[in-house]
Amino acid sequence: MHIIFLGPPGVGKGTQANMLVEKYPIVKISTGDLLRESIKIGSNLGMQAKGFMEKGELVPDQLVLGLVLEKISSPEFGKKIFVFDGFPRNIQQAIELDKIMAKVQSKINLVIDFTMDEEERILRLSGRRMCPKCQRTYHMTYAKPKHDNLCDVCDVNLVQRSDDNEEIIRQRSTVYWEHTRPLLEYYNVKKILKSADASRSIENVFSDIENMIKPLMK
Ligand SMILES: [Zn+2]
Repeated sequence: MHIIFLGPPGVGKGTQANMLVEKYPIVKISTGDLLRESIKIGSNLGMQAKGFMEKGELVPDQLVLGLVLEKISSPEFGKKIFVFDGFPRNIQQAIELDKIMAKVQSKINLVIDFTMDEEERILRLSGRRMCPKCQRTYHMTYAKPKHDNLCDVCDVNLVQRSDDNEEIIRQRSTVYWEHTRPLLEYYNVKKILKSADASRSIENVFSDIENMIKPLMK
């Protein structure tokens, strides 16, 4: 049994996925993480991806699928529940993912659509900051550092991820609505689509997600 988290950047999908990973035998597959990791180690796929991300453009399907396939081939697969966070991003990727799942005699059992008001979402995203040294994340409104713009642990200046500035956020949103939104219909037809109101507190959203997942874990 595997799960997909759908929703535009900034609705808290990643946070919810991380909370699931801590509490249950669940593995998070975030293409964002896979991409950043591949860029960090300077792999061939990573270097190609970097160029697209810096321009606020989507990384091509073939490249993303390569990274996901690698992850699905790991020994964890089959033993744990996989949560796909930010993937698939279009119908083509969804079809490819279904094929891969069928090959390993598995399938997607649940798709959760995270919904949030557009302006609130952009405010949340543009306030995100990260420590370049320890990778801790902060938010200038919701999770401020103790002193100015400094990491609580490392005392170094926090930075904004290059894809978190407002202009790039809006570009990514346009791309999302155009390509990812049609996926809702794709999964709705399969009767595995559920929706979560992501504008509420992190705890409330998490409790909803748990209620959706628990019946599937039996
Ligand atoms: Zn730090």
